[in-house]
Amino acid sequence: MQIWKIPSPKSLVREEGVETLETPTQAKIRITNVLLTPSDLRVWRGSVKPQYPVVPCRFAVGIVGEAGADCLSVEKNTRVYLRDSLPCGQCEQCLSGHGENCLHMQTAGMDREGFLRDFAVAEESALCALPPSVSDTDALFVGVVSLCEAVIDRLNAPKGSHIAVFGAGEIGNLLCQLLIYHQAVPILIDSDEKRLSAAAACGIYYTLPADEQLLPSIARLTGGRMAACSVYTSYNTMPADLPYEATSVGGTVVYTGYGFPSTKTSLKPALDRRLTLTAVTDSYNNCTAAINLLVNKAVNLAPIAPEVFSAAEAEQLFASRAEEMAEGKNVKCCALNLL
Ligand SMILES: [Zn+2]
Repeated sequence: MQIWKIPSPKSLVREEGVETLETPTQAKIRITNVLLTPSDLRVWRGSVKPQYPVVPCRFAVGIVGEAGADCLSVEKNTRVYLRDSLPCGQCEQCLSGHGENCLHMQTAGMDREGFLRDFAVAEESALCALPPSVSDTDALFVGVVSLCEAVIDRLNAPKGSHIAVFGAGEIGNLLCQLLIYHQAVPILIDSDEKRLSAAAACGIYYTLPADEQLLPSIARLTGGRMAACSVYTSYNTMPADLPYEATSVGGTVVYTGYGFPSTKTSLKPALDRRLTLTAVTDSYNNCTAAINLLVNKAVNLAPIAPEVFSAAEAEQLFASRAEEMAEGKNVKCCALNLL
Protein backbone atom coordinates (compact mmCIF):
# COMPACT_ATOMS: atom_id res chain seq x y z
CA MET A 1 0.00 0.00 0.00
CA GLN A 2 1.01 3.59 -0.48
CA ILE A 3 0.94 6.35 2.06
CA TRP A 4 1.79 10.03 1.65
CA LYS A 5 3.48 11.84 4.53
CA ILE A 6 4.53 15.39 5.28
CA PRO A 7 7.85 14.69 7.04
CA SER A 8 8.55 18.39 7.60
CA PRO A 9 7.13 21.62 6.15
CA LYS A 10 7.13 22.00 2.34
CA SER A 11 7.64 18.35 1.61
CA LEU A 12 5.34 15.45 0.71
CA VAL A 13 6.79 11.97 0.33
CA ARG A 14 5.25 8.68 -0.70
CA GLU A 15 6.09 5.53 1.24
CA GLU A 16 5.16 1.87 1.09
CA GLY A 17 3.45 0.39 4.15
CA VAL A 18 1.37 -2.51 5.40
CA GLU A 19 -2.04 -2.27 7.08
CA THR A 20 -3.54 -5.28 8.86
CA LEU A 21 -6.53 -5.72 11.16
CA GLU A 22 -5.56 -5.87 14.82
CA THR A 23 -8.97 -6.45 16.42
CA PRO A 24 -12.17 -8.16 15.19
CA THR A 25 -14.04 -4.83 15.41
CA GLN A 26 -11.78 -3.20 12.83
CA ALA A 27 -12.18 -2.95 9.08
CA LYS A 28 -9.68 -2.34 6.31
CA ILE A 29 -10.82 0.36 3.91
CA ARG A 30 -9.69 1.08 0.38
CA ILE A 31 -9.64 4.89 0.38
CA THR A 32 -11.18 6.13 -2.86
CA ASN A 33 -11.34 9.94 -2.45
CA VAL A 34 -9.95 12.53 -0.07
CA LEU A 35 -10.59 16.25 0.22
CA LEU A 36 -7.54 18.51 0.13
CA THR A 37 -8.49 21.49 2.29
CA PRO A 38 -6.76 24.79 3.09
CA SER A 39 -6.05 23.27 6.50
CA ASP A 40 -3.90 20.56 4.86
CA LEU A 41 -2.06 23.26 2.94
CA ARG A 42 -1.28 25.10 6.18
CA VAL A 43 0.19 21.88 7.58
CA TRP A 44 2.27 21.49 4.39
CA ARG A 45 3.43 25.11 4.61
CA GLY A 46 4.22 24.83 8.32
CA SER A 47 2.00 27.77 9.27
CA VAL A 48 0.12 25.26 11.43
CA LYS A 49 2.44 22.78 13.09
CA PRO A 50 1.21 19.32 14.02
CA GLN A 51 3.73 16.75 15.17
CA TYR A 52 5.60 15.83 11.97
CA PRO A 53 5.68 13.47 10.19
CA VAL A 54 1.95 13.53 9.56
CA VAL A 55 -0.27 11.89 6.94
CA PRO A 56 -2.42 14.77 5.59
CA CYS A 57 -6.12 14.95 4.67
CA ARG A 58 -8.94 15.07 7.18
CA PHE A 59 -11.90 14.05 5.02
CA ALA A 60 -12.12 10.74 3.17
CA VAL A 61 -14.44 8.23 1.59
CA GLY A 62 -13.64 4.59 0.91
CA ILE A 63 -14.90 1.04 0.42
CA VAL A 64 -14.52 -1.68 3.03
CA GLY A 65 -12.20 -4.34 1.63
CA GLU A 66 -12.10 -6.57 4.71
CA ALA A 67 -14.26 -6.47 7.83
CA GLY A 68 -13.31 -8.07 11.16
CA ALA A 69 -15.46 -10.93 12.46
CA ASP A 70 -17.22 -8.72 15.06
CA CYS A 71 -18.14 -5.85 12.71
CA LEU A 72 -21.92 -5.37 12.67
CA SER A 73 -22.61 -2.22 10.64
CA VAL A 74 -20.12 -2.65 7.82
CA GLU A 75 -19.10 -5.57 5.62
CA LYS A 76 -16.93 -6.11 2.56
CA ASN A 77 -17.90 -3.55 -0.14
CA THR A 78 -19.77 -1.17 2.21
CA ARG A 79 -19.03 2.38 1.04
CA VAL A 80 -18.11 4.53 4.05
CA TYR A 81 -17.23 8.02 5.26
CA LEU A 82 -14.28 7.84 7.66
CA ARG A 83 -14.92 9.97 10.73
CA ASP A 84 -12.56 12.94 10.77
CA SER A 85 -12.65 13.55 14.55
CA LEU A 86 -12.34 10.78 17.12
CA PRO A 87 -12.41 10.91 20.93
CA CYS A 88 -8.99 10.80 22.61
CA GLY A 89 -9.93 7.91 24.93
CA GLN A 90 -7.98 9.44 27.81
CA CYS A 91 -9.71 12.59 29.07
CA GLU A 92 -12.23 12.60 31.93
CA GLN A 93 -15.18 12.61 29.51
CA CYS A 94 -13.81 9.65 27.53
CA LEU A 95 -12.98 7.72 30.73
CA SER A 96 -16.52 8.21 32.03
CA GLY A 97 -17.98 6.78 28.82
CA HIS A 98 -18.88 10.10 27.15
CA GLY A 99 -16.46 10.09 24.24
CA GLU A 100 -18.88 12.26 22.27
CA ASN A 101 -18.02 15.12 24.66
CA CYS A 102 -14.25 14.46 24.49
CA LEU A 103 -12.18 17.45 25.56
CA HIS A 104 -9.39 16.67 23.09
CA MET A 105 -10.95 15.34 19.89
CA GLN A 106 -8.25 13.87 17.65
CA THR A 107 -8.50 15.27 14.15
CA ALA A 108 -7.26 13.29 11.15
CA GLY A 109 -4.34 14.94 9.39
CA MET A 110 -3.55 17.01 12.48
CA ASP A 111 -3.59 15.13 15.82
CA ARG A 112 -3.61 11.70 14.22
CA GLU A 113 -2.79 10.30 10.81
CA GLY A 114 -4.94 11.51 7.95
CA PHE A 115 -6.26 9.68 4.92
CA LEU A 116 -3.92 10.40 2.01
CA ARG A 117 -3.17 6.69 1.64
CA ASP A 118 -4.66 3.91 -0.42
CA PHE A 119 -5.62 1.74 2.58
CA ALA A 120 -6.55 2.54 6.18
CA VAL A 121 -7.53 0.35 9.12
CA ALA A 122 -10.22 1.79 11.40
CA GLU A 123 -12.51 0.69 14.18
CA GLU A 124 -16.01 0.06 12.89
CA SER A 125 -17.23 2.87 15.18
CA ALA A 126 -15.07 5.30 13.17
CA LEU A 127 -16.98 4.51 9.96
CA CYS A 128 -20.34 5.77 8.69
CA ALA A 129 -21.98 3.72 5.94
CA LEU A 130 -23.01 5.78 2.90
CA PRO A 131 -26.27 5.27 0.99
CA PRO A 132 -25.91 4.92 -2.82
CA SER A 133 -27.63 8.28 -3.46
CA VAL A 134 -24.72 10.22 -1.92
CA SER A 135 -21.83 10.46 -4.40
CA ASP A 136 -18.22 10.13 -3.27
CA THR A 137 -17.47 13.80 -3.91
CA ASP A 138 -20.59 14.92 -2.02
CA ALA A 139 -19.73 12.55 0.85
CA LEU A 140 -16.36 14.29 1.23
CA PHE A 141 -18.40 17.16 2.73
CA VAL A 142 -20.02 15.05 5.48
CA GLY A 143 -17.50 16.48 7.97
CA VAL A 144 -18.16 20.09 6.90
CA VAL A 145 -21.94 19.59 7.09
CA SER A 146 -21.49 17.98 10.54
CA LEU A 147 -19.46 20.96 11.71
CA CYS A 148 -22.11 23.37 10.40
CA GLU A 149 -24.83 21.45 12.22
CA ALA A 150 -22.79 21.73 15.43
CA VAL A 151 -22.59 25.51 14.87
CA ILE A 152 -26.36 25.71 14.31
CA ASP A 153 -26.96 23.72 17.53
CA ARG A 154 -24.76 26.19 19.39
CA LEU A 155 -26.58 29.22 17.93
CA ASN A 156 -29.88 27.83 19.19
CA ALA A 157 -31.63 30.68 17.35
CA PRO A 158 -35.40 30.75 16.88
CA LYS A 159 -36.82 30.23 13.37
CA GLY A 160 -36.77 33.39 11.28
CA SER A 161 -33.69 34.81 13.08
CA HIS A 162 -31.16 36.76 11.02
CA ILE A 163 -27.72 35.18 11.27
CA ALA A 164 -24.70 37.07 9.89
CA VAL A 165 -22.09 34.64 8.52
CA PHE A 166 -18.59 35.99 7.87
CA GLY A 167 -16.57 34.12 5.25
CA ALA A 168 -18.05 32.51 2.13
CA GLY A 169 -15.65 29.56 1.82
CA GLU A 170 -17.02 26.01 1.90
CA ILE A 171 -17.95 26.22 5.60
CA GLY A 172 -19.71 29.61 5.37
CA ASN A 173 -21.52 28.62 2.20
CA LEU A 174 -22.80 25.27 3.52
CA LEU A 175 -23.66 26.83 6.87
CA CYS A 176 -25.90 29.42 5.16
CA GLN A 177 -27.61 26.73 3.08
CA LEU A 178 -28.28 24.71 6.22
CA LEU A 179 -29.53 27.77 8.10
CA ILE A 180 -32.07 28.29 5.31
CA TYR A 181 -32.99 24.59 5.57
CA HIS A 182 -33.55 25.13 9.32
CA GLN A 183 -35.68 28.22 8.54
CA ALA A 184 -33.24 30.87 9.73
CA VAL A 185 -32.29 33.86 7.55
CA PRO A 186 -28.55 33.95 6.85
CA ILE A 187 -26.71 37.03 5.62
CA LEU A 188 -23.41 35.94 4.06
CA ILE A 189 -20.54 38.42 4.07
CA ASP A 190 -17.19 38.25 2.31
CA SER A 191 -14.68 40.49 0.61
CA ASP A 192 -14.36 38.02 -2.28
CA GLU A 193 -16.96 38.66 -5.02
CA LYS A 194 -16.39 35.23 -6.61
CA ARG A 195 -17.23 33.41 -3.40
CA LEU A 196 -20.38 35.52 -2.96
CA SER A 197 -21.57 34.71 -6.50
CA ALA A 198 -20.97 30.97 -5.91
CA ALA A 199 -23.07 31.35 -2.75
CA ALA A 200 -25.86 33.10 -4.66
CA ALA A 201 -25.81 30.21 -7.18
CA CYS A 202 -26.34 27.87 -4.20
CA GLY A 203 -29.56 29.72 -3.32
CA ILE A 204 -28.24 31.99 -0.55
CA TYR A 205 -30.29 35.14 -1.12
CA TYR A 206 -28.63 37.75 1.13
CA THR A 207 -24.97 38.21 0.28
CA LEU A 208 -23.08 41.37 1.20
CA PRO A 209 -19.59 42.60 0.39
CA ALA A 210 -17.45 43.45 3.43
CA ASP A 211 -17.17 47.17 2.71
CA GLU A 212 -18.03 50.43 4.49
CA GLN A 213 -21.72 49.90 3.69
CA LEU A 214 -21.82 46.58 5.53
CA LEU A 215 -23.33 47.66 8.86
CA PRO A 216 -25.98 49.95 7.31
CA SER A 217 -26.89 47.10 4.91
CA ILE A 218 -27.29 44.62 7.78
CA ALA A 219 -29.38 47.22 9.66
CA ARG A 220 -31.62 47.59 6.60
CA LEU A 221 -32.05 43.81 6.15
CA THR A 222 -32.86 43.29 9.82
CA GLY A 223 -35.19 46.25 10.30
CA GLY A 224 -32.55 47.96 12.46
CA ARG A 225 -32.22 45.08 14.94
CA MET A 226 -28.92 43.72 13.51
CA ALA A 227 -28.21 39.97 13.40
CA ALA A 228 -29.49 37.88 16.32
CA CYS A 229 -26.24 35.88 16.13
CA SER A 230 -23.13 35.91 13.99
CA VAL A 231 -20.74 33.22 12.85
CA TYR A 232 -17.15 33.98 11.87
CA THR A 233 -15.34 31.29 9.86
CA SER A 234 -11.62 31.27 10.53
CA TYR A 235 -8.89 32.18 8.06
CA ASN A 236 -10.89 34.63 6.01
CA THR A 237 -9.55 38.04 5.08
CA MET A 238 -11.95 40.07 7.28
CA PRO A 239 -11.11 41.35 10.79
CA ALA A 240 -12.16 38.93 13.55
CA ASP A 241 -13.99 41.71 15.43
CA LEU A 242 -16.20 42.61 12.46
CA PRO A 243 -19.09 40.47 13.84
CA TYR A 244 -19.37 42.49 17.07
CA GLU A 245 -21.19 45.50 15.68
CA ALA A 246 -23.18 43.36 13.26
CA THR A 247 -24.74 41.46 16.19
CA SER A 248 -27.63 42.70 18.32
CA VAL A 249 -27.19 43.41 22.04
CA GLY A 250 -27.04 40.16 24.06
CA GLY A 251 -26.43 38.06 20.93
CA THR A 252 -23.94 35.27 20.33
CA VAL A 253 -20.87 35.19 18.08
CA VAL A 254 -19.61 31.71 17.16
CA TYR A 255 -16.09 31.33 15.78
CA THR A 256 -15.66 28.18 13.74
CA GLY A 257 -13.34 26.47 11.30
CA TYR A 258 -10.49 24.00 11.33
CA GLY A 259 -8.33 25.79 13.84
CA PHE A 260 -7.72 29.49 14.34
CA PRO A 261 -4.83 31.79 13.51
CA SER A 262 -3.52 33.93 16.35
CA THR A 263 -5.82 36.94 16.38
CA LYS A 264 -5.95 40.31 18.10
CA THR A 265 -9.29 42.04 18.46
CA SER A 266 -10.58 44.93 20.48
CA LEU A 267 -13.07 43.35 22.88
CA LYS A 268 -14.77 46.60 23.89
CA PRO A 269 -17.58 46.54 21.29
CA ALA A 270 -18.35 42.91 22.26
CA LEU A 271 -18.41 43.74 25.97
CA ASP A 272 -20.50 46.88 25.46
CA ARG A 273 -23.05 44.77 23.60
CA ARG A 274 -22.88 41.97 26.21
CA LEU A 275 -22.20 39.38 23.50
CA THR A 276 -21.50 35.71 24.16
CA LEU A 277 -18.37 34.64 22.29
CA THR A 278 -17.83 30.93 21.72
CA ALA A 279 -16.15 28.49 19.33
CA VAL A 280 -17.09 25.24 17.56
CA THR A 281 -14.32 23.17 15.97
CA ASP A 282 -15.41 19.57 15.77
CA SER A 283 -18.34 17.56 14.76
CA TYR A 284 -18.17 14.04 16.17
CA ASN A 285 -21.88 13.68 16.91
CA ASN A 286 -23.46 14.68 13.64
CA CYS A 287 -22.14 12.32 10.94
CA THR A 288 -25.36 10.35 10.50
CA ALA A 289 -27.46 13.52 10.53
CA ALA A 290 -25.10 15.07 7.96
CA ILE A 291 -25.44 12.06 5.66
CA ASN A 292 -29.23 12.31 5.93
CA LEU A 293 -29.07 16.02 5.04
CA LEU A 294 -27.07 15.10 1.91
CA VAL A 295 -29.61 12.37 1.03
CA ASN A 296 -32.41 14.91 1.42
CA LYS A 297 -30.55 17.41 -0.80
CA ALA A 298 -30.65 20.01 1.98
CA VAL A 299 -27.58 21.58 0.39
CA ASN A 300 -26.62 22.26 -3.21
CA LEU A 301 -22.98 21.26 -3.61
CA ALA A 302 -22.80 21.67 -7.40
CA PRO A 303 -21.61 25.33 -7.47
CA ILE A 304 -18.78 24.51 -5.02
CA ALA A 305 -17.96 21.04 -6.37
CA PRO A 306 -14.24 20.41 -5.86
CA GLU A 307 -12.01 19.92 -8.88
CA VAL A 308 -10.80 16.30 -8.89
CA PHE A 309 -7.14 15.36 -9.36
CA SER A 310 -5.30 12.04 -9.42
CA ALA A 311 -3.09 10.87 -6.55
CA ALA A 312 -0.08 11.13 -8.86
CA GLU A 313 -0.61 14.90 -8.84
CA ALA A 314 -0.62 15.19 -5.03
CA GLU A 315 2.88 16.50 -4.55
CA GLN A 316 2.60 19.16 -7.25
CA LEU A 317 -0.89 20.08 -6.07
CA PHE A 318 0.20 20.76 -2.48
CA ALA A 319 3.04 22.96 -3.73
CA SER A 320 0.98 24.98 -6.24
CA ARG A 321 -2.05 25.48 -3.97
CA ALA A 322 0.13 26.42 -1.00
CA GLU A 323 1.78 29.02 -3.22
CA GLU A 324 -1.62 30.52 -4.07
CA MET A 325 -2.38 30.60 -0.36
CA ALA A 326 0.93 32.35 0.36
CA GLU A 327 -0.10 35.01 -2.18
CA GLY A 328 -3.17 35.70 -0.04
CA LYS A 329 -5.67 34.05 -2.39
CA ASN A 330 -8.73 32.16 -1.12
CA VAL A 331 -7.95 28.56 -2.02
CA LYS A 332 -10.89 26.22 -2.65
CA CYS A 333 -10.98 22.62 -1.51
CA CYS A 334 -10.15 20.07 -4.20
CA ALA A 335 -10.47 16.29 -4.27
CA LEU A 336 -7.91 13.59 -4.90
CA ASN A 337 -9.09 10.35 -6.44
CA LEU A 338 -6.91 7.51 -5.15
CA LEU A 339 -8.19 4.77 -7.46
ZN1 LIG B 1 -11.28 12.41 25.32
